[in-house]
Order: sequence, then structure tokens, then C-alpha cells
Amino acid sequence: GATLGIIGGGQLGRMSAMAAARLGFNVHILSAESDPPAGDVARRTTVGAYDDPEILRRFAESVDAITFEFENISAGGLDILSSLRPVHPSGAILAISQDRVREKSFLAAHDIAVAPFHSVPDRSHLAMAAETLGFPFLLKTTRFGYDGKGQFRIADRAMLEALEAELPYPLIAEGYVDFACELSVMVARNALGAVQSFAVTENQHKDGILDLSLAPARIPVDLAHKAQDLARRVAGALDLIGLLGVEMFVTAQGTLLVNEIAPRPHNSGHWTMDACVVDQFEMHIRAVAGLPLPDPYRHSDAAMKNLIGPQGLAACPPALQEPGLALHLYGKSEWREGRKMGHVNALFPLGALPGSYGLEERFDRLFSRIEEP
Ligand code: ATP
Ligand code: MG
Ligand code: MG
Repeated sequence: GATLGIIGGGQLGRMSAMAAARLGFNVHILSAESDPPAGDVARRTTVGAYDDPEILRRFAESVDAITFEFENISAGGLDILSSLRPVHPSGAILAISQDRVREKSFLAAHDIAVAPFHSVPDRSHLAMAAETLGFPFLLKTTRFGYDGKGQFRIADRAMLEALEAELPYPLIAEGYVDFACELSVMVARNALGAVQSFAVTENQHKDGILDLSLAPARIPVDLAHKAQDLARRVAGALDLIGLLGVEMFVTAQGTLLVNEIAPRPHNSGHWTMDACVVDQFEMHIRAVAGLPLPDPYRHSDAAMKNLIGPQGLAACPPALQEPGLALHLYGKSEWREGRKMGHVNALFPLGALPGSYGLEERFDRLFSRIEEP
């Protein structure tokens, strides 16, 4: 059979590898970790850094096509891989999503609304950023941030002056969005331009980390359609082959702003694993492998709760006892604080997401057991 190469060995790689295996592919992962979650379910090569030319070359030659779950591959590394095998999504898309200034500039240039932003390559640009955005505003490292890491909420001028000498430049400054809620849309697109999107997801974060996702989002149907259209437009503008998570804010006025994009399966799409016949990981693999992309039909409503850190482990015994609850663990050996260890999906009949039929109560009971085991 054909062999699919996946760069990165985290939980997204693990779940992608499982989906690929189910479709009959051999999977070879490349990981810089010594005991990566995906290493349990696929052949693995360990690499010191993702730009080692010799290892990248040998890895590429061992597979038929390459995708990734880890976005921070260097341009040089991508060039080596792309010169030997098809890489999807493309290096050009990675380069955009790796850098928040390029990402927001690309979106704005394609008439996709984003929060007002200002590039802050060094300290000398802060005053202008503060002037145009006003307080409070956010500073984010342009690269490598995730789970809210590398972000600073600047409340006022005094705080800015206290911090400016030691901030980790280059940064992007963003206007602070007083959002009504956060949404995401997972959209898949193949080489023929066929596009499919999953139901709009509503996301709640805790301490900068995704905590809970609800699908479908509890928003009016016309807004949901707008969010899906927006995600499709972004996928088209990027000429995407693969899967893309598009994170959005709903503003107090009910308009949509795109926050960030991730050209890979996304944490907020994990509910699709149990609520859809074809989940986000399989859609990703199908798009990359040139297989058909039918409507990834949702047969149930769903709520996804992340299991984070040692508390997540403690939540497993009650989660295992709950009927109708799907537990997914990532096989991580170290249960560090703030680390995503697994997730649980709770399913509800279509149209019955918490809010009706007493499901809200069941839902609360379930997740309070997970929070306070
Ligand atoms: P992820 O783990 O999703 O990759 P990240 O570290 O890349 O996160 P963002 O998604 O940009 O960072 O920000 C994390 C969260 O911080 C957002 O989901 C949102 O709750 C909040 N946030 C980010 N940008 C803004 C903004 N401009 N205004 C208000 N809140 C924001
Ligand atoms: Mg991010
Ligand atoms: Mg985000």
C-alpha cells in the first residue's frame, strides 16, 4: 500500500495516523520527541531538529506523500521535502500560518475581516501601535505561540512602559476584541477545489487553553452560514489542499473576525471523531491523498472537553463510567500542568445540544465530575 509521511508526532499526528491507517495507508512519522504520542501507532523516525537535510531526505524517500501536524518546519526543511515528494498543505500556506503578521496581512489583503493589528518588529514600534489600537491591546509573539503562550494584555501606558524593555520581539499588536463568543470552522479542500466544511463549533477557553467545544455553535443559522462561507473563502484564497481550522470571534455587533488559521486538524474539531461518520482527521487524509470529499455528515450534536494536566488523568475513571461518553487519550507519559492529555466527547441527539430536554443538567453533571474528580 501507499505510505503517508506525517511531520510531527503529537496527538494531532497520532489521530491523523489512526485515520490514515483505517484508510489502508502505511504511516511514517517524523518527530523530534523521543517518545511521541504518534510513535505508538505508526512507524517513526526521530529527528533532532526539523531541518536536518539528511534525515528529511531519507524520510521523504520512504513515503509517497507528506503532510504535517506540526507547523514550525523551516522553509529550508520544507524545500527539501517538496523537492522529493508532494507536500500538502503547501509550504506557502505554512509560511503564512507560521507568522501572525503574514497571516493577518494575507487575510486582510483577501478582504477577510480581522481585528485591527500592527506589526511590532521591535520596541520602537510600540508607541505607534498603542496610538492606533488604544488600550487595552494584545501583544503576541509573531511565531511559535500556542495555548495563549507568548501573549501579553497591555492594560495601559504604565504597563506598556514597565514591560517594553523585556518583551520577546518581534511581536504583533492586536486590538482587544470584546467578543460575544468564539467560533471555529474546520474546512477541507482537495486538489480539484472541492470544499466541505463541518458544522460551526463554539469554543470556550480557560487560561488561554481551549477547554470546551460545542457543535453546533449556539448561534443563528444565518451567522453559521456566514462563518462557513468565510472558512471556505480562506481555504480558496490559500489554494488549500488539506484541512484548515479557522478560528473566529463574533463581535458584540454580531460580525465575524478571523483570529487565526491552522492548516491541519484542530483541537476544536475533535468532536467530529464521534459525531461524524467521517471525522476531521479522515477529511485531512482524504484531501491530502486525493480521495473523494463527501459531506462529512454530522449524525449527533457534540460537546468536547479537553483533559488537561494531572487533573485530566484524575478525570478518566469517572469518564469511563459515564454512558455515551467517548474518551480519547493521547498516550503521553508525562502529565505536566497545562498539557493536553486527552479529550472526551459527549454526544446528544441532533438538535438537542445542552439547552433543551434536561441535557444541560446531564452535561453539567458530567463535566463537573471531570473537573472535580
Ligand atoms: P491556539 O492554542 O488556539 O493556537 P494561540 O496561542 O495561537 O492559541 P490565539 O488563538 O491568538 O493564540 O489566542 C488565544 C485566545 O486568546 C483566543 O482564543 C481568545 O480567547 C484570546 N484572544 C486572542 N486574540 C484576541 C484579541 N485580539 N482580542 C481578544 N481576545 C483575544
Ligand atoms: Mg494558534
Ligand atoms: Mg487560537
